[in-house]
Amino acid sequence: MKRRLTLHVPREAVHQPLTYRLAVDFDVAAKILRAQVSPNQIGTMVVELSGDIDELDAAELWLERQGLRLDRAPGQIRIDPDRCVDCGICSTVCPSGALAFGAPAWQLQFHAQRCLVCEQCIPSCPFEAIALGLDQPQEPAQTGWSPQP
Ligand code: SF4
Ligand code: SF4
Repeated sequence: MKRRLTLHVPREAVHQPLTYRLAVDFDVAAKILRAQVSPNQIGTMVVELSGDIDELDAAELWLERQGLRLDRAPGQIRIDPDRCVDCGICSTVCPSGALAFGAPAWQLQFHAQRCLVCEQCIPSCPFEAIALGLDQPQEPAQTGWSPQP
């Protein structure tokens, strides 16, 4: 099975070979979807862990013992209104209907509660207007792309 986690990595653990240890010690594969390291060396990573359920549980426990804080919320899709031109391309790859485009407004609508955070929309945008945010949900905006219930 797979689990998507946001890992908040303390300064002491930033240089640990975490993904290597997960693979060797727990037989858990870790695919890094996003990684950010701040200047003071505190890191944040979004990872997709794959393995048996018992191994995943053990791996998560080990990560917490290394001082990491695990956030099981999957992150938030963000759409940059300064880049989005309402072309609608991303809506054609969205499997859940979270991205909708059409008459009468012909503006992109983002229904955040339907989003699966599958990230298929991110590479589909020719203007690089879509990204995965690691923090709080995007504030509602005044244009057509704003998150909708
Ligand atoms: S986010 Fe990108 S692909 Fe989607 S409507 Fe805006 S510009 Fe087009
Ligand atoms: S992450 Fe997936 S479900 Fe969410 S808006 Fe993008 S394509 Fe749709």
